[in-house]
Amino acid sequence: MSQSGRPEVLAYIALGANLGNAQASVLVAIQRVASLPGTRLIRSSSLYRTAPVAATGPDFINAVVAVATRLSAPELLQGLQDIENQAGRLRPYRNAPRTLDLDILLYGDASMNSPALRLPHPRMHERAFVLVPLAEIAPDKVRPEQLGALAFQAIERLAATAP
Ligand code: AMP
Repeated sequence: MSQSGRPEVLAYIALGANLGNAQASVLVAIQRVASLPGTRLIRSSSLYRTAPVAATGPDFINAVVAVATRLSAPELLQGLQDIENQAGRLRPYRNAPRTLDLDILLYGDASMNSPALRLPHPRMHERAFVLVPLAEIAPDKVRPEQLGALAFQAIERLAATAP
């Protein structure tokens, strides 16, 4: 990757896991995201527990992090997919339970619309497990009425993560 000369971009990443020790998977994934080349962690939300939406299996553990990165958006996505694969993610069928799911919510103010990468993430406003942790670390990115529209989706705040 030739990211060294690029300016940093603030990106928001959603993390979710619902197999095995989901809490540990998310915490390890946050450290791995923070260790991607040219990338540093700016903020982490608390961990949240949510019932599966359009998926099966046990409850999910979710979080959102902000990173400053010199990676391009496709490079960042590739890095996240490598981390998913490292966590042993299998995709036997659509929306199968997953060890780890990492999505780019926002990459600066970039707007992209290829199947491989859509930004802002097209479904971020439909999911309390994304919007609630995002609002915790970036209240300016979420409007109160967007949160209000998802109030029916149960979400439980667990411990805060470092830093
Ligand atoms: P999923 O199975 O829900 O993790 O979806 C992964 C697929 O969505 C991959 O093929 C990605 O290329 C694609 N994708 C499109 N936009 C995004 C995004 N903003 N963040 C992560 N994956 C994305």
